[in-house]
Amino acid sequence: MFESLTQRLSGTIERLRGRGRLTEENIREATREVRIALLEADVALPVVQALIERIKVRAVGQEVLKSLTPGQALIKVVRDELTAVMGSQAADLNLNVPAPAVILMAGLQGAGKTTTVGKLAKHLKERRKKKVMVVSADVYRPAAIEQLKTLAEQVDVLFFPSAPEQKPEAIVKAAIDDARKSYVDVLIVDTAGRTSIDAAMMAEIKALHAAVTPVETLFVVDSMTGQDAAVTAKHFSEALPLTGVVLTKTDGDARGGAALSVRYITGKPIKFIGVGEKPDGLDVFHPDRVASRILDMGDVLSLVEQVEQQVDKDKAQKLAEKVAKGKKFDLNDMKDQLEQMQNMGGLHGLMDKLPGMGQIPDAVKNQVTGKEVPRMVAIINSMTKKERRNPALLNGSRRARIAKGAGMTPADVNKLMKQFQQMEKMMSKLSGGGMKGLMRGMRG
Ligand code: GDP
Repeated sequence: MFESLTQRLSGTIERLRGRGRLTEENIREATREVRIALLEADVALPVVQALIERIKVRAVGQEVLKSLTPGQALIKVVRDELTAVMGSQAADLNLNVPAPAVILMAGLQGAGKTTTVGKLAKHLKERRKKKVMVVSADVYRPAAIEQLKTLAEQVDVLFFPSAPEQKPEAIVKAAIDDARKSYVDVLIVDTAGRTSIDAAMMAEIKALHAAVTPVETLFVVDSMTGQDAAVTAKHFSEALPLTGVVLTKTDGDARGGAALSVRYITGKPIKFIGVGEKPDGLDVFHPDRVASRILDMGDVLSLVEQVEQQVDKDKAQKLAEKVAKGKKFDLNDMKDQLEQMQNMGGLHGLMDKLPGMGQIPDAVKNQVTGKEVPRMVAIINSMTKKERRNPALLNGSRRARIAKGAGMTPADVNKLMKQFQQMEKMMSKLSGGGMKGLMRGMRG
């Protein structure tokens, strides 16, 4: 996410971090670099100007120059201001209305609207425990209705059927009636998108909005379009009272311009970001966490949440108990850990959220993505039960046999055993000093 912006900014920041003293010249230089990085990331000019102005005012003030660690203080100023321009706090959906709460989704064709309806349905069902129904009012493309039906089945929510010969308002009114009868909490309405904004499209969605009075009207926009995303959202918000924006495709090589511009240009909060094509590729937008990620300070909180949602709790609990009792960590435990990692989208999905990752070239990151974890699992699979429980048995000839069984070289097996030893060491620190022990393990 926002890799090039991150790379540029973290370069600037690295140079400042350790400084014991900063001169005004250093600060001018740094703000110049931040400005160039923002412009290159396609952040809208008024946003860049406002940001730089605020950073400058604070940077030459007491807060930074008099600080014992001016480099750090300046980084904090930049992070605060990036956070503020994105809206400071995560903006929640308003669902506190008599059921069904209607969410109207608008956007240009191809922005990711239908995909987002599926993701949002899953999010509301699984994380907010809501009974969800979806309906398509896109009467121009029968394929769009079919696409939504398939998505609804995939995420297992109710689907209200519609057909091209119906009127959008009639469809949605019927869906609301049905939702009420079926005790649905949230009804998400997908609408037609066009290739660009046109009068007929605006008139139609305005009429639809007036007829169904949704509690949330979300504008879905592709982050790859940079600051244009903010401009399109602004046009829409002039015609329709938007309550928020969903920024899609932030997992691609979007430069960050959209994320940083939307709030300032439209006055509307970004509520969610799309982070992948699959139904679970939707994150709540947390301005502070995104700012930290842009500055390559990592997004450990999101990482923790992701782990909490996706980890097999029983297995995690068993391992925690085992470690607490001071029992030995073995290769079966390692295999469990690796498999859980795979469930979370492999190392790549996790790495993206760790501090400092922006510095690591893509070529290196790609080496550890995808294939690495399944290969490690394959090596462990080719060991006997006894060997997994007692890694000390693994002498040279056993390692050669395992390598052959997994279709790999003894060097691969040795590498895995090194990684195992590191994990084992970390676990033993954990059992000694709890969380503090782990933190020590990570640092040292
Ligand atoms: P609509 O015309 O606005 O309804 O757009 P669709 O929902 O059909 O999405 C258009 C394309 O964008 C599809 O190929 C989606 O898989 C893709 N897409 C949507 N959201 C995301 C996202 O967050 N990340 C990625 N990588 N692709 C997305």
